[in-house]
Amino acid sequence: MSTFKAPKGTFDLLPPSSATYLAVREAIAAPLQTSGYGYIETPGFEDVSLFSRGVGESTDIVTKEMYTLTTKGGTELALRPEGTASVLRAALEGNLHKAGNLPVKLWYSGSYYRYERPQKGRYRHFSQVGAEAIGAEDPALDAELIILADQAYRSLGLRNFRILLNSLGDKECRPVYREALQTFLRDLDLDEDTRRRIEINPLRVLDDKRDAVQKQLVGAPMLRDYLCDACKAYHEEVRALLQAAGVSFQDDEKLVRGLDYYTRTTFEFVHDGLGSQSAVGGGGRYDGLSEMIGGPSLPSVGWALGVDRTVLALEAEGVELEIPAATSVYAVPLGEEARRVLFGVVTELRKAGVAADFSYGGRGLKSAMKNANRSGARYAIIGGERDLAEGVVQLKDMESGEQEPVALADLVAEVRARLG
Ligand code: ATP
Ligand code: MG
Repeated sequence: MSTFKAPKGTFDLLPPSSATYLAVREAIAAPLQTSGYGYIETPGFEDVSLFSRGVGESTDIVTKEMYTLTTKGGTELALRPEGTASVLRAALEGNLHKAGNLPVKLWYSGSYYRYERPQKGRYRHFSQVGAEAIGAEDPALDAELIILADQAYRSLGLRNFRILLNSLGDKECRPVYREALQTFLRDLDLDEDTRRRIEINPLRVLDDKRDAVQKQLVGAPMLRDYLCDACKAYHEEVRALLQAAGVSFQDDEKLVRGLDYYTRTTFEFVHDGLGSQSAVGGGGRYDGLSEMIGGPSLPSVGWALGVDRTVLALEAEGVELEIPAATSVYAVPLGEEARRVLFGVVTELRKAGVAADFSYGGRGLKSAMKNANRSGARYAIIGGERDLAEGVVQLKDMESGEQEPVALADLVAEVRARLG
């Protein structure tokens, strides 16, 4: 061990378990890549104000969880705490919305940073795969995203997750509801912080996890009863499309989510095996965000799924992903000349698309074969002086233990044929 440790709230992904993380990212991305979503990558940091405006001044993310820094040049930056604001910023900056093909559909995968109290499923550095569909108001788009996330989780073998669904209304009906809710909340017995929240973002009070608060919320006005006809119709259509696709969900009128920018459709994926960090992913429609960060009106919808919690969910369900061995062929040279020849063979195999590795460091047969075993390779190629003199190497099937000489000239073709 060195003098250093990974910073609090972070952890390293190391082989072999890192392969699971990679597979989870790939499984979440796969349905997006075949549904018209293009890959986007944005910087790990942005101007602080992108997030304070885009995510919302009253959110936990902005008030408590952001890692901010001032550069030597005096610019205020923040490590990205989430993806949506950056992706929209980049799409606008790159004029993707003007290319004439709306919605602009994008997917991303990366690291995010929040200064949180570390606990299982809650880290200061974590990993998300996300998707955004920018510039179209169409219930089919909201449904598409939910269906794709559902498909991703199912393809991983997850079953014990639930989809919670709600509508947050729009700029017509939400303000009316907001006022009704504020009137109700102001009469309750609440602490200073919560009273302040009533004035800035009263919907978030509904999300308060404390029993003492939840008890008082019985009888609070519900947004559902305030939705305007357009929002109601929109929401009904999203629900109908999900039902037609066979994706089950639960209506959750209390689901508000942490970010200020959501409108209409909002949803969360929760997993029942994760204790209090149960949200494996979430998202919704954010029709006002573009204008909030200085862009044109671009109604949009998106989600972000947490990779770390998805891995925990797999563990909770006892699902082991089938991850193919990284190495198919392992070469074991015996002696100097064999080392040169087999190193050449490994290079040829790799060029031919066969995953191959080599016993480095001049090991003896026994220890080299141990490494061949550990590598998970299906075949070992063993070559000594006598073999080379005859123009052959020994090809050993690591499963059956059978071994036979194969002419060096035929080796690549033979291995490829055997591997199928
Ligand atoms: P929570 O309510 O658990 O704090 P959130 O609403 O802050 O979640 P989002 O901003 O919606 O989370 O992020 C989407 C997903 O990213 C979450 O559902 C979760 O899986 C993951 N996530 C968010 N914060 C963390 C974190 N600190 N550590 C690990 N995963 C996280
Ligand atoms: Mg959070």
